[in-house]
Amino acid sequence: MAELWPGLGGPVINYISGPPSERWCHTLPRSLVILGSTGSIGRSALAVVAKQPDFFRILGLACARQVNRLAEQAVTFRPPCLAVLDEDAARALHALLPADYHPRILTGREGYAELASLPEASTVLSAQVGAAGLAGTLAAVLAGKVVCLANKESLVLAGGLVRDICASTGASVLPVDSEHNAIFQCLAGRGQEVNRLILTASGGPFRGKTAAELENVTVEQALKHPNWNMGAKISIDSATLMNKGLEVAEAFHLYGVGVDDITVLVHPQSLVHSMVELADHSLLAQLGTPDMRMAIAHCLMWPHCMPTEVPPLDLTRTALTFHTPDLEAFPCLELARMALRGRGGLSVVLNAANESAVELFLQRQCRFTAIAKLIRKALDAHSASNPGHAPLCPPLAVSVQTDPLALAQEVHILVERISSLDAQSRALVHELVRSGEYSC
Ligand code: MG
Repeated sequence: MAELWPGLGGPVINYISGPPSERWCHTLPRSLVILGSTGSIGRSALAVVAKQPDFFRILGLACARQVNRLAEQAVTFRPPCLAVLDEDAARALHALLPADYHPRILTGREGYAELASLPEASTVLSAQVGAAGLAGTLAAVLAGKVVCLANKESLVLAGGLVRDICASTGASVLPVDSEHNAIFQCLAGRGQEVNRLILTASGGPFRGKTAAELENVTVEQALKHPNWNMGAKISIDSATLMNKGLEVAEAFHLYGVGVDDITVLVHPQSLVHSMVELADHSLLAQLGTPDMRMAIAHCLMWPHCMPTEVPPLDLTRTALTFHTPDLEAFPCLELARMALRGRGGLSVVLNAANESAVELFLQRQCRFTAIAKLIRKALDAHSASNPGHAPLCPPLAVSVQTDPLALAQEVHILVERISSLDAQSRALVHELVRSGEYSC
């Protein structure tokens, strides 16, 4: 399998983890836990699983609050474990399950972490939304699982930590995000010849609009993504281009390349999912119909390539175009690069400020253009109070081989540190909006 893994043998690509074991590759069915099963990625994953019933056994499903949908999924797949956000959600879920089915129902951050590290689980799909997905991802890598990673925030917040834990526990990461999955596929068996990674961006619903034209856009307009059918948070992130900013951070951590070796190109058709430029200037691209089932199936079934229901791409019916993003109208992309260069927890601040600002925009409490302004304010405030940019997560001092309990404790302390900075940044954004300067 090693030859299918990106970056082996070269100094340019330093992939975040080693490949899954031969045993994992050949043991079927794979026992799968899905964190975020009721969201867009989770539902697509279950559609993939339903088409390949011999390939998977669903061991656990988790959501935050959509208990009706979780109950339907649970009745169909009958996993022995479920997890929800809190006791209220657990009671509501329990009431919806049939009398002959008694799964364990776990709750809260600890519940998600327990589900992600179940000894019987071999594979975890981490697909919760936002910073809330970090605990599950870390629990899965600490437990040495093969993690199909859709929660990009796990890397934005703690990419170095995930890398260190993978090195210690032997966990593997497979990238579900379509751009990173495309790059993963282009890099298979490569590494030393890579010049740069090129992430494509659809440009979102406001592609071509000027900064002035964006002043009065509505929530409904921002939610209308032209090519991909996604949840509300990521749809707004696509409209501001913050999604691409977070994806630059994700690529930085996954592939171990420099910030300046990651280029973003707007590609309105979303058919080229991303590209790799080699030293001789040849380009490798992965293309397909924009449908997340392709990337999800690639990860869940790696290294096998199985048929999916994604329709084939007819290249005779479309032209492919590319252009550079308008950073004046969409400053979030540059803010994310700035945070990544600055380190010292700036990416945590960026992500928290963005999540809060997007939430406030969706609640119609601030303008679309306020999102970037609020993030900039939060970054400036953090830089002013942390001028030395001391690293938030220094390299791990212990390994799983020497002391697994101490490793878990050390990770717990770092997560508390991330959570505290996250909470501070959210509070600042709420305070700024309450002050009236950024409200509608
Ligand atoms: Mg993506």
